[in-house]
Amino acid sequence: MKIALIGLGAMGYPMARHLAGQHEVMVWNRTRTVGERHASEHGTTHAETLVACAGAEVIVTVLPTSREVDEIVDQLAGHLQPGTLWIDATSGDPVESRITAARLALKGIDFADAPVSGGTMGAEAGTLSVMVGATSAVFARVEPIARCFGKIILHVGPVGAGHAIKVITNSMMAANVWIAVEGVLMARRLGIDPKMALEAANAASGRSNATENLLPLRLVEGKWPLVFKLALHDKDIRIASALSHSEHMATPMLALTQHLFTAALKNLGDQADYIEVAKYVAAMNGERW
Ligand code: NDP
Repeated sequence: MKIALIGLGAMGYPMARHLAGQHEVMVWNRTRTVGERHASEHGTTHAETLVACAGAEVIVTVLPTSREVDEIVDQLAGHLQPGTLWIDATSGDPVESRITAARLALKGIDFADAPVSGGTMGAEAGTLSVMVGATSAVFARVEPIARCFGKIILHVGPVGAGHAIKVITNSMMAANVWIAVEGVLMARRLGIDPKMALEAANAASGRSNATENLLPLRLVEGKWPLVFKLALHDKDIRIASALSHSEHMATPMLALTQHLFTAALKNLGDQADYIEVAKYVAAMNGERW
């Protein structure tokens, strides 16, 4: 199958590699050299122009937000053939994705929101979880393609449902990260080694993905890789907050999480990794990691 992947960032780059293992893949990236490098490293075709991607049977977008996806839809919509499938693996906004799906449906193009979870390690390993929002018929088209880079492929509901559950689950993760960092910081203040604090949490009721997988590298080994921009995580939590607002729901923990992450972002800057919020929590207490 001819697939065009647009957006070779931290996630899209390895996802395109996995697709290329089973399909004829064309890649396009805003910064051209990245697309050229992908083609030379992984046998994909570098699209000379964005419009060249319109010849593919399937378009996969992996972009920062729904706004960039919309910009690409604007440029490609007039060139796409009816029957094309558009899979948006961006962690986007369900309100926007429903509008995009309706826009493309007028041209006979199927759209699915299919955000992913599992981080850059999951993307490298091809073991991502994929949360698909689509009709059953469109999901049947998406599933075998998502299987190239994903291990668990969930049909969450109609268009928009994938983007909705993705920002909800990332908000849950954010709250877990924050409270775990506070806990380890407190433990250290009380004379307990952070390594032991995490070990105890993991053997007890404080265990989470944060304590097991995310924090040991940073708080114990002192390594702070950039794997997921805090700006993108903050975007996810803000989308979740907006959804809560539009549903007129009382979700104070979500609201607090959003305020904390936005404050951390304003302090740490656009290029910070999401777990660097730990540094902000420490600074709030006159400490450093
Ligand atoms: P990156 O910042 O690493 O990559 C973003 C990509 O989008 C780059 O290819 C960039 O091109 C391109 N891009 C940015 N702006 C534009 C634009 N205006 N027009 C066209 N292309 C543009 O992001 P990630 O790969 O980390 O994230 C992508 C999506 O996946 C996000 O929605 C994120 O929330 C989600 N996600 C990320 C995870 C992670 O661990 N990183 C995990 C799960 C989901 P260029 O090279 O030119 O900058």
